[in-house]
Amino acid sequence: MSEINEDPANFALSLQDADPATLRSILEIHWERICNRLQAEVGEVEYRTWLKQITLGPLEEDELTLYLPTRFLRDWVRAQYNSKLNQLWNNELAQIRRVELMLADANQTASTAPIPVTSAPPTATTVASESENSSQPQVEQNSEAKPEEIRLDFHSHLDPRFTFENFVVGKPNEFAYACSRRVAERPASPGFNPLFLYGGVGLGKTHLMHAIGFELAKTGKYSVTYMSAEKFMYRFIASIRSQSTIEFKEELRSVDVLIIDDLQFLIGKDNTQEEFFHTFNALVDAGRQIIVSADKSPSDLSGLEDRLRTRLGCGMVADIHATTYELRISILEAKAAAAKVEISPKVMEFLAHKITSNVRELEGALNRLIAHANLFGRPITLEVTQEVLHDILKSHERRVTIEEIQRKVAEHWNVRLTDMSSARRARSVARPRQVAMFLAKQLTSRSLPEIGRKFGNRDHTTVMHAVSRVAELIEKDPAFAEDVELLRRMLES
Ligand code: ADP
Ligand code: MG
Repeated sequence: MSEINEDPANFALSLQDADPATLRSILEIHWERICNRLQAEVGEVEYRTWLKQITLGPLEEDELTLYLPTRFLRDWVRAQYNSKLNQLWNNELAQIRRVELMLADANQTASTAPIPVTSAPPTATTVASESENSSQPQVEQNSEAKPEEIRLDFHSHLDPRFTFENFVVGKPNEFAYACSRRVAERPASPGFNPLFLYGGVGLGKTHLMHAIGFELAKTGKYSVTYMSAEKFMYRFIASIRSQSTIEFKEELRSVDVLIIDDLQFLIGKDNTQEEFFHTFNALVDAGRQIIVSADKSPSDLSGLEDRLRTRLGCGMVADIHATTYELRISILEAKAAAAKVEISPKVMEFLAHKITSNVRELEGALNRLIAHANLFGRPITLEVTQEVLHDILKSHERRVTIEEIQRKVAEHWNVRLTDMSSARRARSVARPRQVAMFLAKQLTSRSLPEIGRKFGNRDHTTVMHAVSRVAELIEKDPAFAEDVELLRRMLES
């Protein structure tokens, strides 16, 4: 074990005796490298269309399972990329002799559930401004007529697809966006260092951080390093094992902008936290910019050392809220336009209503539709959408039942569960009941009559009235809107 150095490939040695969480991390790191390689080999479009959907499954002895969300995708990937995937995995980890491509089962238990492989940042990225036919028009736009190419440092790990230009701004993210823009314009200014971005998964934290990094790296004046907290830990441990901690520290402390993603990963990892704390202090004291993301605010990140928590909250703390319907529509419009695919407003509305969890899932659904449209040359109708996204839509529906909605809403406003179906009309119970109907319409696929039946056999027009009344109140009353939003979030999580 003492021979292990920073190269992730050397962690292969410890595969057998790794605990499940470590094993998973190791596999993920290798998978990220493989994805980078695949992306480089097959090209961006091909990768996004077919391979980005692959998720990691379990490793059993010498066989690794990879999942695909639909039969169609699985068959395609099996036919086209089976040997490539086998070869790449075997090169990464000699223990892996076979790669099995399987259909992801919607009912998988949490422990074996596939881990979505998020858009892995490509390595050594060179973005040539003359690349007219590249699939990244947004990069061309913001190259500000610079004649020379924008060269990203290999170590920056920045993904030039995540730019400010293709970040869609709406109410839930406008503050975080403005702060990010500000830091990209004037890094390390007082009040903005560190910049701490937090919010739920798939809402654009990583995107914004890459965008800041990319803006700054583009000027040629700053060296920028992006790293997930997990990778930070991994590299830190590797440096201890290879007795190169000094080099590791020096390397980190020499950057102008350090971006650490998903800091919550460091909870419970005391030594790594300590190391990060020192790096943090050294950089901030030297007038460098630090940008950190996490799933919670600094004060809610219990399990982080107090002194680190305090320092993290010292600069600008900006949260990204759950998406609103309007933002989802804007995102769909922007992404469809960027892909030059026409999608009817009806289909967009349907998607924005059904896929409410986060932008990542919304984007995934849209990408699949686009791939399908390109492949079969069929226009994307509502029927095609339902067919192609069958599995995604199903998993979203499965999440919430009307009973759960009634229970949560009743708890929230402290009314009896039986009042959800009782005939009482006092405002104190009628309003929560209306909210429950509204949420039932939003979060389940039940029809209005079906919903009515679950609420003490009410008529579908009563449900309709409740839905429009609640929508009206949401517009008028921000406190009420927040209540409903909170309930929706609780029900969806
Ligand atoms: P997080 O880091 O918060 O989990 P990401 O930044 O990885 O989320 O975002 C998930 C996906 O959604 C990415 O592909 C990202 O480009 C996209 N995305 C998120 N928010 C937006 C937005 N406001 N506009 C455009 N794309 C977005
Ligand atoms: Mg992220």
